[in-house]
Amino acid sequence: MNDSVDRLAKLFLKFPGIGERQARRFAYFILTQQEGYVDTLSRALVAARAHANMCNRCLRIFEGTTDSNSGLCEICSDEHRDQGSIVVVEKSQDIESFARTDYNGLFFVLGGLIPIVQKDIIQGTNAAKLIARVQAERADGALREVILAFPITPNGEHTDSALRELLAPVSDTLTITSLGRGLSTGAELEYADPASLEASLKKRE
Ligand SMILES: [Zn+2]
Repeated sequence: MNDSVDRLAKLFLKFPGIGERQARRFAYFILTQQEGYVDTLSRALVAARAHANMCNRCLRIFEGTTDSNSGLCEICSDEHRDQGSIVVVEKSQDIESFARTDYNGLFFVLGGLIPIVQKDIIQGTNAAKLIARVQAERADGALREVILAFPITPNGEHTDSALRELLAPVSDTLTITSLGRGLSTGAELEYADPASLEASLKKRE
């Protein structure tokens, strides 16, 4: 009966944090808009996806081009950044929060959290790639510290301890720290204010 609403709602349902009712609300919203708006929206979606790139080193998804030789983003290819420290975050947008702090090191995007119920802690995220990178950069002698920066939620804390376990065999010459309790419980890192993030970086342990 409402084929296009159903089809649209199904697409919106894939958005993070969107349930069935909100998805249908979005679908009806589209139906009531001017054609010009819908046209602009669909073009913007296609263009955003076309301009998205993934960095070979930190695995972050970002808008822009990677260095054509190295495949690196502008953070990873910046030699003035401290090559001795890697902040590990859940998702690409978490990195943006650090841009407003004094942190001047590198990053790694885990691409998700490791759920408590999951038995095999290496599956489902970029954990294996993190270990490979830490091993390689430790061998180069550049890497000194890995900073785990996950939300203070049950899965965030589980990810923290799972990564400590996975990194233990390759971290004898490294310091592994976690962001201090300056962040509020349950808060997403991408919404952290710069002052709290700065404080939690200073208090890392
Ligand atoms: Zn990068």
